[in-house]
Amino acid sequence: MEKAPESKEGSPARVAVLLLLFWAISAGLICWCRWRPDWGLWAFALYFSSVILCVLLSFVAAVPTIPRSRKPFMQALWYTVLVGMLPALVAFLLLRRLEEMDEDVMDFFENVALCLTAISLLALWIGGTDVVGIWGLQPLATAGIMSWAPVVYLQSTILWIVVVYNLTHFIGSVDLSVEMDLPFPLQVTYLVLVTLWFSSFLRVLCTRPGKPKDFESEMLSPKPRPNNQVFCVFCQSQKPQRCRHCTKCGACVLRMDHHCPWLRQCIGFGNYKYFVAFITYSAVALLFKAVTLMLFTVRAFHGEITFWTKLWLVSTEALVIALAGTMTAFAAFHLYLCAIGMTTIEFLTRNEKKEKYEKKVSFDQGLCGNLQAALGSIPLFWLFPACPPSGDGRTFPHKVLPHDVDKRTKESQRALAISEETALKEKEASNRPTQPCLESTAEPTCLEHQQDGCVAAEKEGEDPV
Ligand SMILES: [Zn+2]
Ligand SMILES: [Zn+2]
Repeated sequence: MEKAPESKEGSPARVAVLLLLFWAISAGLICWCRWRPDWGLWAFALYFSSVILCVLLSFVAAVPTIPRSRKPFMQALWYTVLVGMLPALVAFLLLRRLEEMDEDVMDFFENVALCLTAISLLALWIGGTDVVGIWGLQPLATAGIMSWAPVVYLQSTILWIVVVYNLTHFIGSVDLSVEMDLPFPLQVTYLVLVTLWFSSFLRVLCTRPGKPKDFESEMLSPKPRPNNQVFCVFCQSQKPQRCRHCTKCGACVLRMDHHCPWLRQCIGFGNYKYFVAFITYSAVALLFKAVTLMLFTVRAFHGEITFWTKLWLVSTEALVIALAGTMTAFAAFHLYLCAIGMTTIEFLTRNEKKEKYEKKVSFDQGLCGNLQAALGSIPLFWLFPACPPSGDGRTFPHKVLPHDVDKRTKESQRALAISEETALKEKEASNRPTQPCLESTAEPTCLEHQQDGCVAAEKEGEDPV
């Protein structure tokens, strides 16, 4: 099979250019918002336009593949349209009637319309995540430039959250009559968190998971190799321990954990530590933002703010809570995997029946050993975006599972016992030659026939297949 061409988009130089672009947009947005009194609404509109553009482009690009993945796509689209649009439509109708109402009733209905629109925007974002995420699972070679859609989608969301937070808590917004109320120690904590968060993100984007070298001389042999190596039919090369072939990247990946469409590459031996650091800091930073931004929003509501300012504040808070919840669950799952010494694929396929030649092995080295194998040898730097774990990514300390050994031994003992028992019964049967002939009308040649059969059966018993 033809080998997939080496992708250059993930190279550190390209990623650095992309990140510079990301930060330039972020700085531009902050500067622009600083001088515009109505910045919140415009920035929010710009952010949601990028989200909707990503969803539309993903959907258009996915049209030829829809016959294959029709169900999830249609589900995501219906969810986006129905759940996303309906509350907004109701809110719009409510807002149109507000001018005819009393002030108290108007306040109540304004808040109802606000909640409905915020729910709508959140549903649109979740539905969009689904559509873009499904599209992100296309092979990179087929998706081409559109494979960047999930990366842009996630990055524009993070960018929006960072811009809102910096403007409300650090730079000070123009149209909000609310003082920033983040104590100095918390400000320092936040800055340290964000620095670690983005440096981990940079490391995971710039670091390849690692591919096994081609074993040209050992090619074309599907037989198992020492250290549990097997053959990859796509790459025509040997796969070292824990190596898997990724159909999206079109390559074998060392200690493959999973393919991440949001980072547009595989997470494997080379970048797993940075990935865990990235999602852990994402979870902590987002939880931090969720709490402080909520306090800020509640205070802002007591001031004089317009409906639209309330809307982007509430929608951003809802977005931060949704993302914080998802990232916390995801980080907790990966920290658990680190503790038990498994990759995501190994965890999900742990109950699957192995091939005959593939021994069931465990890479569990105890809690501390597992964490050191995944996050590096120095505990102080476990969540620091440097000091990766040692090793070549090809072989790992392991042991054949004891219950598997027992099972194999028991199975072979049982097979031996059954063959011995069969042989004994057949021997006994051969000593009572007249019995089978009682029911038959056969001549004495029957005896000879029976003896021949027993001899044949004994021979078979001695030589178990
Ligand atoms: Zn492969
Ligand atoms: Zn991959």
